[in-house]
Amino acid sequence: MPAIQFCPACGGPIQELIPVGDNRKRPVCSACARVHYQNPNVVVGCVAYYQEGYLLCRRAIEPRSGFWTIPAGYLELNESTEEGALREAHEESGAHLEIRSLLAVYNLPHLSQVQLLYLAEMTTPALMPGEESLEAEIFAWQDIPWSELAFPTVFWALHHARLMRTNKTLSPDLASEKLLRPAPTNPLEA
Ligand SMILES: [Zn+2]
Repeated sequence: MPAIQFCPACGGPIQELIPVGDNRKRPVCSACARVHYQNPNVVVGCVAYYQEGYLLCRRAIEPRSGFWTIPAGYLELNESTEEGALREAHEESGAHLEIRSLLAVYNLPHLSQVQLLYLAEMTTPALMPGEESLEAEIFAWQDIPWSELAFPTVFWALHHARLMRTNKTLSPDLASEKLLRPAPTNPLEA
């Protein structure tokens, strides 16, 4: 079944077929003939730090409600990835940040998702969790709730952030293949 069943433009029924000059099936409106291309989602976010602490938010929404995550969300139209990362952090935690570098690019083709994560420094420790967060907190490294992280990407991004802070020449983390295995719950296993 096509991902959409009715044309967003005219309401006509959608068929999956290969448009002329194309090479894969697309949702095409059988009434107005518009092709409704579908492309991966871009998620932007950041590992934010204040002095030796790392910012995490406890999710108030599914999926993984109640678990801890870094601020991240879908890039909006007409927004740069940096703007999106700062916006998400402010919406979810109230934090004010300055981006220091690109931290990671994670490809999740099974979800049709690309994540661009930044390393960012909090300009003040003040936090005000938004509606999508139950709480927001700055954790010392040893106090991070490793067994209650929402997603494997959070684990890998935190570890890469810690390495990058001590080695400013380190490249962003591009090792998406490790996302396919579960993150260790013990940070010493990473
Ligand atoms: Zn249509």
